[in-house]
Amino acid sequence: MTSLLEVSDLRVTHRGSPIVDGVDFKLDRGEALGLAGESGCGKTTTALALMKLLPPALTQSGSMTLRPEGAEEPINLGRRTEAGMQLVRWRHISLVFQGAMNSLDPVQRIDAQMAEAIRLHSDQKGGKEVGRKISDLFKTVGLPVSAARRYPHELSGGQRQRVMIALALCCDPSLVIADEPTTALDVVMQAQVLQLLERLRESLGLALILISHDLGVLGETCDRIAIMYAGRIVETGPVRSVFDDPQHPYTKLLLDSLPVIGGERGLAPPIPGAPPDPGSPPEGCRFRPRCPYAKDECLADPPLREVAKGQSAACHFAPWKKWPDPRAAAAAGKKA
Ligand code: SF4
Repeated sequence: MTSLLEVSDLRVTHRGSPIVDGVDFKLDRGEALGLAGESGCGKTTTALALMKLLPPALTQSGSMTLRPEGAEEPINLGRRTEAGMQLVRWRHISLVFQGAMNSLDPVQRIDAQMAEAIRLHSDQKGGKEVGRKISDLFKTVGLPVSAARRYPHELSGGQRQRVMIALALCCDPSLVIADEPTTALDVVMQAQVLQLLERLRESLGLALILISHDLGVLGETCDRIAIMYAGRIVETGPVRSVFDDPQHPYTKLLLDSLPVIGGERGLAPPIPGAPPDPGSPPEGCRFRPRCPYAKDECLADPPLREVAKGQSAACHFAPWKKWPDPRAAAAAGKKA
């Protein structure tokens, strides 16, 4: 089966400094891929590069090929001009931005904002037809149709996020990218929005790229996960395999830093240090200054390679059969 989206060697630079540095991944139809990592690791920049919505100061390169259902030939996103991308955005790929309140126009009623998107990006132009589509979308995302006549400030945070999801679906895209769609919501709303995304994915056959720093959210929703660090994917694979048997020290420490329900009371161990400045990454493995398992070999850059079935990691010592205690490993490393 050919993939819906194939991304190869995606790079984004700012004045020559890499922000996203050679990202590759594939996404099948109806599949959900989670992009995880600390703030500043390149998750949102990757999403904006896919939509070619980066600010002018950033430059992107690499190949991005989309094969939407019914399209006569693959769409080479990398080569598309701005006019060409306007035929792709919303119709084939749409984006649910972070923070619904900042993304909706505060002085326009919601139905007017949705009608504009539908008229501009789909073949539906008539008033009745567009009105029917908006009502259907509101029902799909579990909002009362009457809410369409409201202004954004008249809705709760959870309702606004549902409006953002309805907007993303208004031209029946094959792929929705959701960037931290639940960050500003309380846990109840968070669960409802995630359930909604999951339900829509199943009923509409949507492919989903879900961006979050919250591994719990991605574990609940995604089929596969890609862990990003300093502009690169350092581990990727099926969610279950990566969660049960991580093969990169960064993934292992991220998972160890999650609180355990029913475990001993106390703070989960944080990962020491901070991600490097993408403009001047450390020599060799980018995780080396924070990695408790670093050795001399790590002064060479480790490639991302398959280390178990369907699971790849960029670490010289993967596959890890057994994880040494990180504190003992770090102490031994310092002595050496
Ligand atoms: Fe740590 Fe070395 Fe593996 Fe990098 S290559 S993650 S520094 S053990």
